[in-house]
Amino acid sequence: MKPDIKLFDSDGKRLDGRKPDELREIKIEVGVLHRAEGSCYLEWGGNKAIAAVYGPREAIPRHTQNPLRAIINARYNMAAFSVEDRKRPGPDRRSREISKVISEALAKIVLTERFPRASIDVNIEILEAEAGTRCAGLTAAGVALADAGIPIRDIPVACAAGKIENQVVLDLGKDEDNHGDADLPIAISPRTNEILLMQMDGHLTLDEFDTALELAMKGCHIVSDLQKKAILKKYQNIEEV
Ligand code: UDP
Repeated sequence: MKPDIKLFDSDGKRLDGRKPDELREIKIEVGVLHRAEGSCYLEWGGNKAIAAVYGPREAIPRHTQNPLRAIINARYNMAAFSVEDRKRPGPDRRSREISKVISEALAKIVLTERFPRASIDVNIEILEAEAGTRCAGLTAAGVALADAGIPIRDIPVACAAGKIENQVVLDLGKDEDNHGDADLPIAISPRTNEILLMQMDGHLTLDEFDTALELAMKGCHIVSDLQKKAILKKYQNIEEV
């Protein structure tokens, strides 16, 4: 499909000057909220997200309890002021869907069997959105879970690849998301490459899908290194005090 705006310049660079396999700039700060067990502030290009983890604590109401394991309750919310056309506040179909897929992804990585009847609540607030917020939110949640000291098999991480002007690229920005052909966000456990979340918007051929998946995996590993660096930075500083 031909986009209505040009997404590559004559040098093959993208609108924001990136190469096809380049991520937007990412900044991660750990432990920004003091009333949460664990927290993370993350900037990913124009996205700004906060994740806060509470628990494990007794799941309420009691009928939500699982006698064998903890339930993971991720709540993704985009602030009304996070996008140019003010978003109607409160949950909608999209945020319910994102909360569900993130909860399921995190449940695969947390040792939930250690906390029967408990809930682990993960609040993800998107303060500014510029495409890729579910990846930014899940990546922040992974860091917040580690900061909370919750037993996890690995620190989950997310990244998307997509297709614009018939080319597979890493980490779509806002215009690329709006005018591109496909978006493939994934989340993985970087230690095992197990896929924890995979969604797709648009159309890819099988070959394009394979290329996009490989690229998104590469992106996940780069972001994973940044997560670990941010966590080390916080805890090394504490040790030095
Ligand atoms: N968006 C918006 N209003 C909405 C929902 C989304 O402006 O109600 C924008 C926002 O910038 C978001 C982007 O559209 O990041 C892409 O949304 P999508 O549903 O693809 O999820 P995301 O890429 O953020 O995970």
